[in-house]
This record gives sequence, C-alpha cells and structure tokens, in this order.
Amino acid sequence: MNEAPRQITLREWDDRYERLQTRGVRQPVYGGPLGRHVADGDTRLLKLRYDSSLAALRLWNFLLTEEDRLRAARDAGKKLVGTMKDLGTVPVMAYSLDNLVAFYPDGAWWIPCVMEVNSGLLQIADSLGIDESFCPVRAMLGAFVTGTHFPIPDLLTCSVGATCDDFSAIAQRLNGLGHPILWWEIPHRRAPEVEEEAVQLPGDFSAPKGQIEFVQSELERVKTALEDLAGQSLGAEALAGGIAKANHVRWLLAQLRHLAFTATLCPMPALEMLIAEMLAIHFCSDQDETIVVLQELLEEVNLRVAAGTGYSSADAARVFWVNPVADLQVMNFLEDCGGRICGTEYLFAHALDPIPQTVPPMEALAQIALADPMVGSAADRAVRIVAEVRRFGAEAVIVSRIPGASHCALEGEIIGEIVRQECGLPVLEIEVPPLTDAMSPTLRTRLEALVETVENRRSR
Ligand code: SF4
Repeated sequence: MNEAPRQITLREWDDRYERLQTRGVRQPVYGGPLGRHVADGDTRLLKLRYDSSLAALRLWNFLLTEEDRLRAARDAGKKLVGTMKDLGTVPVMAYSLDNLVAFYPDGAWWIPCVMEVNSGLLQIADSLGIDESFCPVRAMLGAFVTGTHFPIPDLLTCSVGATCDDFSAIAQRLNGLGHPILWWEIPHRRAPEVEEEAVQLPGDFSAPKGQIEFVQSELERVKTALEDLAGQSLGAEALAGGIAKANHVRWLLAQLRHLAFTATLCPMPALEMLIAEMLAIHFCSDQDETIVVLQELLEEVNLRVAAGTGYSSADAARVFWVNPVADLQVMNFLEDCGGRICGTEYLFAHALDPIPQTVPPMEALAQIALADPMVGSAADRAVRIVAEVRRFGAEAVIVSRIPGASHCALEGEIIGEIVRQECGLPVLEIEVPPLTDAMSPTLRTRLEALVETVENRRSR
C-alpha cells in the first residue's frame, strides 16, 4: 500500500476497513474489522492507535484470533502443548512435528491490559494466594481456572532452575491445582572456568560445555514427551528442518528490526514492532501464517523506506527499550512524546537470535536456551544491551519495570549503571502497570523530559 503512514484509532480503522472491503481488498480467513474484538471484551483496543497499513491490520487480526486458532487446531485433531517460561525453545521442537501446536499460556500476562482488568483473572489469582506481589503473569492461573482464554493444553512443559521466583511459584500453584507439568531444568548461566571448555552462544554470551550438555539432556526429556504426545518420532533431520523454519522467522524479524530502528524516518510504530517481535516465541500458534504476516510487514516497511516516508521526524529521540510494557498504550506514548524505538530487549532476545545450524540440532537448541538473557546475571544482560545500543545508535535507554516482577527490583539499577558507564547515555526507569490511565500524565511528562534531555545533549 503506497499511502503515507499514519496512526489511526480503532474506529478509524473500522471505517477504513469498510472502504477497503468496497474496493474488494482481500483478507485472510481470520481477517475482519478490528472493532469486532472489542465485543470479546478487549476494550483496551479502543484506546490504542494503530499503523494504517494492511500489513498492520493483518498483524493485529492474527494476534487477536489466536484463541480461535487453538480451538480449531484441537478440533482438527492436533495436540496442544502449553510451553511455559523458556520463551522460544520448546516451540521450535513442537512445530517440527506436524500434529502439535505449541503456545505460551504465559501470554495471559497481557489479558489484564487488553481486557482492562475486567476479565476477573487477577481476582482468581488473588483467591489462590497469588496476589499483586507477583507479576501480571499471575493472570495465567485465572485463565486455567476459567478455561475461557485458551484451551487447556494436552501437555504442559515449564523450565525451572534459573527462572524468576514469580513464574516458579505460579507454575507450582498451577501444578497443585491438578495441571501436571513436565518440568525441565535450566541452570543459571555462568562464565566458564579457565580449565573448562567454553562455548560461544548466540547473543555473544558464553557458557561451559558441561552446561550445554546438561540442558541438552533436559531437552531430550522434553523431546520424548512431545514425541509420545504426537505419536511420531522427531529425528535430527526433521528437527533441523524445524530449526531452519524458525530461523526464517528470525531472519524476517532481523530485517524488520534493522529497518525500523535505523531508517531515517521510523517506518513502523513501536506498538506494531512489539507485537511482531512477540511472534518469534511461538509463532502465535501458526508458523506458516507468521511467516506471511512478517513478510507483509517487511514489504510495507521496505516500500516506506524506499519512498522516504515514516513517522514523526528524522530527529525523533532514539530510544532503546528494555522489558515489555504491561500496558500496550505506553508504546503509543513514546511516539506522542517525540521518541522512536531504536533497539529493544523484551526479555526474549534469544528468541530473535539465529539458532546455530552448524551443530547437531538438539545441541543447538540447548545453546539457544542458555542464551536466554534471563538465565544469566543482570550484568550479562546489560552487556548485551550496551552492544545493541551501539549497534542501533540509540541516544537513551528506558527500563520499564513490571509491577511485582522479582527481577525488576534491582536489574534497572545494574543495567542503568553499566549503560551510563559504557555509553554515557541517559537512562530512565519507569514502572508500567497493566493500566496506566491514572498515571499517564506523569508517565508522559517523564518521557517528554527524556526526549528533551536527548535534544539538549545533541546541541552541546
Ligand atoms: S517476573 Fe519477569 S520474567 Fe518472570 S514471568 Fe514475570 S515478566 Fe516474566
């Protein structure tokens, strides 16, 4: 579509959708006006602003129809695997088998935002002893109790060990509620000792070979469980094919991120880019369609970059964003305040790194699991952030804290200190709850102040 990009409301999208229909523009089977999702209770959609491209429409409709897709997969005889916490590793195995569909029940994290806390999920978590001292992922417990947000999976897996306390406690509670879980352990990633054989991981971390071997043995247990569920064996060739396909998704995202973060004018807003990045972790329950959705977004972005069109101005403050926001609306705020995203670390950077294809596939998956920024120290994570800040030429860093999240108590300070020391950039730490309405003036003021700081530093 060769129109100047602009951010529009849900109502504007619905009007636009009608006009597109009149012109005979074809939609995928899950397509339709975005406004229809509000009837499902997704009222936050009314407050967001969306990119005006057909590619963005497809992205949003794809995201918002995942539950239907999961139910359709079950009706078609496929088995559902709820993969918890590892963010991007076990689904690669599951999607290498043609009758499994994997998804992250953890995605319930965003339900309190999208349904504006009207879903009752947090109250259910409260009643089960998992109160607001835990991060919003506690909504997942409520979703399992009601069974109305995703079908109950046929198999549940969860990584433990170097996992945040929140998830550990919540998954244990889930297990206690009668949902059996296949636990697999991921150790805290540590630097190799002098006498140990070191392995360079994706994302430039390193780990002792012994840790890779241990994680591989744990993943072998998961693979056996997946094979039992699928009634098929997963050979090295099929798994290598699955890795190649996952890498294609990651490659598309790498192109998209590079253009979105480095083009003179930002060609795709922060909110759509966040959703696109999320597709990497479990392909929104349809890997083939994820590829199509990302290809369309990339085509749109390529067209915009070639035409020199995009958002805000060429001198928008270039911001690197750390952690996903519990309230999606805050991504809109950044652009309102004169910023743009130039680099992200949304807790799943390892799901964006290419999976090594030069080592046996199970070893490659062990490497990518250990490359998870959240299974090492916050200082390790900061080093990776510094490298990315430099790569994308960011001028400021925002660390958005997640309410209740155990890792957020101290990581902002550590990341902030290392970023300031290494890059000399301003770092802003903000807390973003699932609904920011009451505090949005304060949040906007802080974002504006950061943008002003960036502008002042340029004129020094
Ligand atoms: S505490 Fe952080 S890492 Fe753990 S589940 Fe919540 S958001 Fe994810």
